[in-house]
Amino acid sequence: MTFKLPTLPFAYDALEPWYDEATVKIHHTKHHQAYTDNLNKAIADGNIEVSSIEDLLQNLDKVAMPLRTRVINHGGGFYNHNFFWESLAPVEKSTPSAFLKESIEKKWASFDAFKEEFSAKALAHFGSGWAWLVLNKNKELEIIDTHDQVCPLSLGYEPLLTLDVWEHAYYLKFENRRAEWIAAFWNIVNYGAIEDRLKKALTK
Ligand code: MN
Repeated sequence: MTFKLPTLPFAYDALEPWYDEATVKIHHTKHHQAYTDNLNKAIADGNIEVSSIEDLLQNLDKVAMPLRTRVINHGGGFYNHNFFWESLAPVEKSTPSAFLKESIEKKWASFDAFKEEFSAKALAHFGSGWAWLVLNKNKELEIIDTHDQVCPLSLGYEPLLTLDVWEHAYYLKFENRRAEWIAAFWNIVNYGAIEDRLKKALTK
């Protein structure tokens, strides 16, 4: 099985002014492409049987070391970026539905309180990694962060939303100001995608 870099669900400039065209293009065509290529190399080198990227990341123990590290890094990099792009949408599409709002407000005092906790987790994450909204094994919403390219699927979570806080995700426009990147992100969240993922995860 060979993985292909997916085309983005929007034009490179569609997330302006919150996410600039140059960063989106480099992020997709260079960084995401590199993870895709290196995942394919790891699969070929290890002659690994793969049915899907999700299955691969959920069953890392079936991959022998040291290939497992390459699968965590590049398989995670491939999946996490697919998931990240699908978590974003142009600003005019970025409004949470009643179902999503109610689900969030059952767990947090308000929708803003949820956004604050997610933002704080993303801001405090040390080094490269990701902030996530996930559904845990008890079917409860939870905010987590993962290091490097570790994928929540490998930890037993169902991912619902993610934010890339690697410097490559924002440095060109925001330089070292991660807080500004996080604030911009909330304008281009694809809430429809989160709701679809949540509904699916709840019925699994
Ligand atoms: Mn990235």
